[in-house]
Amino acid sequence: MFFKNILVPYDESDHAKSAVHIALGLAGPYPEAKVHVVTVIPSAALPNPTLMGEGFDVPYALGDPDSYERIMNSVVQRASADVQDVVDQSRDDARCKIVADAVIAGSPVEGIADYVTSHDIDLVVMGRRGLGALRGMLGSVSFGVLRSVDVPVLTVK
Ligand code: ATP
Ligand code: MG
Repeated sequence: MFFKNILVPYDESDHAKSAVHIALGLAGPYPEAKVHVVTVIPSAALPNPTLMGEGFDVPYALGDPDSYERIMNSVVQRASADVQDVVDQSRDDARCKIVADAVIAGSPVEGIADYVTSHDIDLVVMGRRGLGALRGMLGSVSFGVLRSVDVPVLTVK
């Protein structure tokens, strides 16, 4: 197996689902290979602890870092569980290892680029487009990843 750690950045789009299938097709026969299916949660999409106070309907106790931490963990856990469902549905008879993961980062591109270095990724397989409504050949996340990582990137429809 030429690629040992394949990253599939996952955003629930049809293109990202194709990317999961293609990555599993590549790594499936190899028990020593690992496919990482990862959703990046942009930190801007999370409740902001500095926006606390009257008029804000915040779901966590004011100024309580433990409760904020718990919310962050549950967001990550829920996202990982969603990815795990997709992985379970697509794994067929793949013999490779598959991990479903979610990370919080400043932006999807930043989260994906960090994951590539921290997990020794040697190939990224991702959708050409995602959930965005814009038309065109390549989404901004795919474009940003192509620009910022040094490993091969396979983009799929
Ligand atoms: P844009 O977001 O620029 O409006 P888009 O949504 O059509 O355009 P991208 O966001 O670039 O296109 O999505 C392309 C691919 O990038 C997706 O198929 C998926 O593989 C990956 N991707 C996008 N967003 C995320 C995310 N938050 N976490 C992980 N992977 C993502
Ligand atoms: Mg998008």
